Amino acid sequence: MNKQNVPEMFGSKVFSDKVMKARLSDKVYQSLKRTIDENVKLEEDVAEAVATQMRDWAVENGATHYTHWFQPLTGVTAEKHDSFISPSPDGGVLMEFSGKELIKGEPDASSFPSGGLRATFEARGYTAWDPTSYAFIKDHTLCIPTAFCSYSGDALDKKTPLLRSMQALNRQAKRILKLFGKEVKYVRTSVGPEQEYFLVDKEMFEKRPDLVYTGRTLFGARAPKGQELDDHYFGVIKPRVTAFMEDLNNELWKLGILAKTEHNEVAPAQHELAPIFSTTNVATDNNQLTMEIMQKVARKHDMVCLLHEKPFAGVNGSGKHNNWSMATDTGVNLLSPGDTPSENAQFILFLCGVIQAVDDYQDLLRLSAATAGNDHRLGANEAPPAIISVFLGDELTAILDAIKNDKPYEEHEKVVMKLGVHSLPRFSRDTTDRNRTSPFAFTGNKFEFRSLGSSNSIACCNIMLNAAVAESLEQYADRLEKAEDFEAELHDLIKEVIVKHERILFNGNGYGEEWIKEATEVRGLSNLRTTADAMPHLLDEKNKKMLMSHKVFTETELNSRCEIMLENYCKTINIEGLTMVDMVRKNYLPAIEGYLNRVAGTISLMKSVSDKVKCNYELSTMERLSELTDYILEKVEVLEDVLSKVDDFDTIIETSEFTRDKVLPSMEDLRKYVDEAEMLSPEECWPFPSYGKLLFSVY
Ligand code: ADP
Ligand code: MG
Repeated sequence: MNKQNVPEMFGSKVFSDKVMKARLSDKVYQSLKRTIDENVKLEEDVAEAVATQMRDWAVENGATHYTHWFQPLTGVTAEKHDSFISPSPDGGVLMEFSGKELIKGEPDASSFPSGGLRATFEARGYTAWDPTSYAFIKDHTLCIPTAFCSYSGDALDKKTPLLRSMQALNRQAKRILKLFGKEVKYVRTSVGPEQEYFLVDKEMFEKRPDLVYTGRTLFGARAPKGQELDDHYFGVIKPRVTAFMEDLNNELWKLGILAKTEHNEVAPAQHELAPIFSTTNVATDNNQLTMEIMQKVARKHDMVCLLHEKPFAGVNGSGKHNNWSMATDTGVNLLSPGDTPSENAQFILFLCGVIQAVDDYQDLLRLSAATAGNDHRLGANEAPPAIISVFLGDELTAILDAIKNDKPYEEHEKVVMKLGVHSLPRFSRDTTDRNRTSPFAFTGNKFEFRSLGSSNSIACCNIMLNAAVAESLEQYADRLEKAEDFEAELHDLIKEVIVKHERILFNGNGYGEEWIKEATEVRGLSNLRTTADAMPHLLDEKNKKMLMSHKVFTETELNSRCEIMLENYCKTINIEGLTMVDMVRKNYLPAIEGYLNRVAGTISLMKSVSDKVKCNYELSTMERLSELTDYILEKVEVLEDVLSKVDDFDTIIETSEFTRDKVLPSMEDLRKYVDEAEMLSPEECWPFPSYGKLLFSVY
C-alpha cells in the first residue's frame, strides 16, 4: 500500500475557504464571506476578483475547462464543459474566465424535464453560482456548483428550492432563538447521509440487459444462499472491495468530502458509506458527487456499483439515511438537549417544531422519498413502512408525557416539570435510536429520516423537512412574540403541541401488521404505498399553501414537479416492462426451447435404444418446461398489450395509476414463470448469469 498523506490530500481539489483566504485580498475575501454567511448580494468586482483567482488555481491544478455544475430534475447532476481558452492576438491562446462567467451561465438545456414549465422554444435557462458550496476540480474541469432557473425565474433544479427552504428555516429559527435571548448570525440545517450500494462484477453485469437498462434484475431465481446467516453485515471486507473503498476514499477526500465510515451491509455484495455531516446544500452536492464517484471508481476495479433501491429480489435493497439537525453559526446544535433549564425549554420547543412538522406534512416527507425503485422497499419489512411516524425513545417520550400531564417525570426529583424552571433529566444518548423500523428517529442530537432510497437525491426530503419545520416555528414565534408571560405561554404551547401531535409518535415495531392497522384506523395517519399514491399530494391545498408561503416553491414549480416525478415513475417502469419483453422473446424463450429440443431428442434417442427406459426425469422436465413456455408466452403477450396502452391516457395521474395497477402486476406475473423455468434448466443453457453468480463472485 502506498503511503498517503491524508491531511495534505484532503480537499486538494477544492477551492476551499483555506484556498480563498490564501489567494484573495482581504477585502474580497471578507466581502465573499458576507455573501456566503449572511446572504448579502455579491458585488461585481468581487466576482471578478474571485473568478481570476479561481481560474489561476484551477489551471495550476491541471484544469483546462470549467462547467456550471447543476442538479436538474432528472435527479442526477449535469455539466456542460467550456474550455478556458480564448485566442490571443499573437495566434496563441490565453486562459480566460470572467466574473460574469463565474456568476451566470446559459446552457442550452432544452432537453431537461421541466414539466411544462418551459416551452422548448424558450429553451434557455440560466445557471447561477451558489457561493455557499465550494468549487472543485473533477477530471480537468473546474466545477462551479450552481442553481438552474428558467428566464421567468422558475427553479428547474433541486438546489434552488433547497436553498430557499434553508432560508425559510433560518428566518423562523432565528425568531425563536431571539425569544430565548439569543442573537445569532444564522441557523443552518446539517445533514449526514448514509449511503448504501451494491458491488457486482463488471463482466456479470454486462451480461444482464436488465441491470444495464434498468439497474435492477427483472428476473432471477433465488440463490441457495441469501442474507439469512447475517454473515455479511459488518463482516470482513473482501480484498477487491477493500481496494475499491481505499480508492474511493482517496477520490472523495481530494474533493473535500468527509468520507468517514464504511462497512458491509446486510445483503451479500452490499456495502455502506457514511460521511461526516455538513451543511445541507453542501451535503447534497457531496452526496451527488459521492454517488457519481462510487460508480466511476467501481469501474476502475472491474466492478459496477448499483445504486438501485432493489437490485435483487429476496435480499435487502439499498436505502439512504438522512441524518438531520439544525445548528447556529456558533456551532450550537439546536436538537441537542442543553445544560440549563432555559436551554432545555428551547430544545423541547425545537423538538416540538419537528414533531409537528412531521405530523402535519407526513405526505410531503413520504413523497420526497417516492420513486419507482424505492416503492420496492418501503413497507417490505426491510425498510421503514410507507407510514411516516416519529421515534423518540422511552425517555424522551416519558418527558413529553410528564410535560403534557403536569406530572413529575418518574426518573427525576419528583417535581412537576415546569419548562424554563426545572432542568430536564439527563438522558443518555445511547438509549435512543436502535429502532431500525422507524422512518423518522431521534438519535440523541439529530433526527434520522430513513425512508430514502439509495439513488434519491437528498435535496427533496430536506426541502420538505426544512420548510415544514419553518412552518411550525413560524406559528410558535407568532404566538410567543405576542405573549405577556413568555414562560407560561411557552408551557401552554408545548403542552398543546404534544396533545395535538402525539399520534405521530411511535416507539414500537414499524414492521408489524398491527401497526398498519393502528396507524391508519386509530391514529388516522396516512399510508401512501406507492409513488402513484403519494406524489399527487404534492398539490394538496395545505401543502401548496405552506410551501408557497415560505417561498420554497411557486405554484407553477409545484405543478411541474409533480408532473415530472410521476412521468419519471411511469417511464422507469415502462423501460423495465420493455426490457422484460425483450429478454423473454430474444433470450429466455429461445433458451428454454433449445433445452427442450435437447431433452426431447434425448428421450426419443433413449427410447429407440431400449424400450425399458422410463425417462421419468426427462419427461417430467420436458412437460413442465413446455407448460411454462406456454405460460410465459401468455404472460408476455399480456405485458405487451398492457405496455401498448400506457400512452392512451390524458393525464399523468391516470397513466401512473395504470402503471401501478396493470403494468407492475403483469411484470410480476411474467417473472414468476421465468424464474421457475430457471430452476429446471441446466446452468449452461441459461442465457444470463444467476443470482448466485451476481451476488457471490466478488472476492
Ligand atoms: P449511526 O449509528 O446511525 O451510524 P452515527 O452517529 O454514526 O450514527 O451518524 C450517522 C450520521 O449522522 C453521520 O453521517 C454523522 O456525521 C451524522 N450526524 C451526526 N451528528 C449530526 C448532526 N448534528 N446533524 C446532522 N448529521 C449528523
Ligand atoms: Mg444511521
